[in-house]
Amino acid sequence: MMSSNKSRKPDTVLTHGGRDPAAHHGIVNPPIYRASTVLFPSVEVLRRGEADPFSTMRYGRYGTPTHWSLEQAVAELEGGYRSVTTSSGLGAITTALGAFVSAGDHLLIQNSVYEPTRVYADRVLARMGVRAEYFDPGIGAGIADLVRPQTRVLMLEAPGSLSFEMPDVPLLVSSAKARSDRLIAMIDNTWPTPLYFQPLKHGVDLSIHAATKYIVGHSDAMLGLIVATEETFLPLKSHAAMIGQCASPDDAWLGQRGLRSMSARLKQHQAGALHLAEWLKARPEIAKVMHPALPEDPGHAIWKRDFCGACGLFGFVLKTDNDAAVTALLEGLSLFGMGYSWGGYESLLLAYQWKPYHPDWLKGEGGTLMRIHVGLEDTDDLIADLEAGFERLKAAIS
Ligand SMILES: *Cc1c(COP(=O)(O)O)cnc(C)c1O
Repeated sequence: MMSSNKSRKPDTVLTHGGRDPAAHHGIVNPPIYRASTVLFPSVEVLRRGEADPFSTMRYGRYGTPTHWSLEQAVAELEGGYRSVTTSSGLGAITTALGAFVSAGDHLLIQNSVYEPTRVYADRVLARMGVRAEYFDPGIGAGIADLVRPQTRVLMLEAPGSLSFEMPDVPLLVSSAKARSDRLIAMIDNTWPTPLYFQPLKHGVDLSIHAATKYIVGHSDAMLGLIVATEETFLPLKSHAAMIGQCASPDDAWLGQRGLRSMSARLKQHQAGALHLAEWLKARPEIAKVMHPALPEDPGHAIWKRDFCGACGLFGFVLKTDNDAAVTALLEGLSLFGMGYSWGGYESLLLAYQWKPYHPDWLKGEGGTLMRIHVGLEDTDDLIADLEAGFERLKAAIS
């Protein structure tokens, strides 16, 4: 693998990280290596690879230079040792958890993590004798009181999925680790991307990404990534290999291709989202906007201290819970699509049911929780689309 210069700035890593044109006839982008069988020139070479199976080309399932290109660039961005590509973001979460838990272990999981993370813990890990306990990230240093001798993993996500509150990652990690030296801290780092938050610099051991979102960036591939420390890489990668976890080289290629323009895209997503957040805040139909980059947001100070940017995804609460009115708003939109996932170039808007495990500040409030992804369109057009939507909402209520 190519050696990397650790002092390079993020935008330089995005353009040059994991690329080695000289190794590929001068071609700018690494080629797509489609592979299952890899032929060895001698018994000696074949046996040599067995000693370090994840650094040389041995078999398609373990990864190819196409995967390494993406893995190396993302590891360099986050100051990690190496990273592992997976078939989806959820595949990255389950692979990371599965690599480190055994029957009898206890997990501490932030209550506002991506919902399928909870489903995996409660429906799959529970069956294998692993018990998950959920905590409100506002607990801060109090997390230490929840750590038991059996606690193996602390699972975080910043900001929380749908609720967008900001956990104090360094405080939670250092407080929990002070109680146990076998604790592995993991974070779902999809929202800030490798560009806007580097969890490994704050004591986290594994940083997990739904690369499906901004890394791929064009809503056309499923892909996950886990950035590991030197201590966690081998157990993680060995587990991924043992369970047959792998991403297609074509999708890994789309990931490395998307990475090259991610900084430029994110700047526009960030500016557009902030513009729309400010506009929404002033609308009479809105009860609250949840976006940690807004100065009055409860998570703003932590966001400003730990992150160096925001993406295009945030939440807001409509005052009404009139389902027909919300449906009228959503179904007439011409630019905002209704659909899962986010991080592509297009804008999206979804309405959610209340979730009982959301942090305290959501409990007992009425209204409708909305999640918006601000794409790369002109914000004047997006505002006009939403404005017409609010007219339909009002008409349906009266
Ligand atoms: C979408 C998402 C995932 C899952 O990623 P997939 O590639 O869809 O499996 C995980 N975490 C977060 C925060 C997400 O938004």
